[in-house]
Amino acid sequence: ETLDKGLEKSKTSFFNKLSKAVAGKSKVDDDVLDNLEEVLVSSDVGVETTLKIIDKIEERVSKDKYFGTDELNGILREEIAALLAKTNTGNETEFAIPKDIEKPYVIMVVGVNGVGKTTTIGKLAAQFKKQGLKVVLGAADTFRAAAIDQLQVWADRVDVPMVRQEMGSDPASVAYDTLQSAVTQNADVVIIDTAGRLHNKVNLMNELSKIKRVMQKVAANKPDDVLLVLDGSTGQNAFEQAKQFTKATEVTSLAVTKLDGTAKGGVVIGISDQFQIPVKYIGVGEGIDDLQVFNKIEFVDSFFK
Ligand code: GDP
Repeated sequence: ETLDKGLEKSKTSFFNKLSKAVAGKSKVDDDVLDNLEEVLVSSDVGVETTLKIIDKIEERVSKDKYFGTDELNGILREEIAALLAKTNTGNETEFAIPKDIEKPYVIMVVGVNGVGKTTTIGKLAAQFKKQGLKVVLGAADTFRAAAIDQLQVWADRVDVPMVRQEMGSDPASVAYDTLQSAVTQNADVVIIDTAGRLHNKVNLMNELSKIKRVMQKVAANKPDDVLLVLDGSTGQNAFEQAKQFTKATEVTSLAVTKLDGTAKGGVVIGISDQFQIPVKYIGVGEGIDDLQVFNKIEFVDSFFK
């Protein structure tokens, strides 16, 4: 229900456009396919993924001998869900940390400024805390004083400890202290904020790998998750950032934010298809509860309801 609300704009827009695309047509013909292509591209699905979807639909048209437009919804739904990252099983329902990892579960959060990194960390901390898990935050975006202070606001709000040093200190040192402190407190989850300065790729790469290396001095195989936060309302920019960050480090999951403010939620489909990295969370508002576990079946369904 909240998912429907969060995706209201994307949903309405997609649905309206899709209705127009098939208006006056009983069969899915070349005209309908052309219109559909436009609908998908204008919903920010991305050209590559759009063409894949159109190809699939064409295949089915030739196999089924021009099915009716009334069947198009169901077929689109199937084909789109099939493209999304295989690592998203479609069974995801709640905020959970894997049971088979060594405590604490460490999430290193990456992404450029303004995409909603801090907010997502705060919302995530709140969800884990709600489950009775002990959470520690680490303010390793030491590049901007505001980043440290904003994360502190969330830490206070959620009422979880945050490890910080002064602005300009070594991010890896903050990460080290955070993990050390979490181990001492026997914490369950550690969430580390990092600076995302894409304009200096070599620095970014070095900084992220140093943070990882230093954490591994405290506990082997950490972090458990490198979560890239992308702003879903920025379309092609989000694609570009995914490309750059996956080059700089091994990104293991995605959070796509601000889907409530855009009619172009299709970006989730394109990114998931092209990078085959699981989307774990979606942001659908500024409030503490406006983060959802991504479920590809629910997500795709919500577009066709
Ligand atoms: P950061 O610079 O990446 O840490 O970004 P922030 O977490 O400070 O977020 C930037 C702005 O986006 C803030 O005004 C947030 O309230 C807002 N924001 C973050 N996530 C969402 C979301 O899912 N929906 C909406 N509407 N706003 C969001």
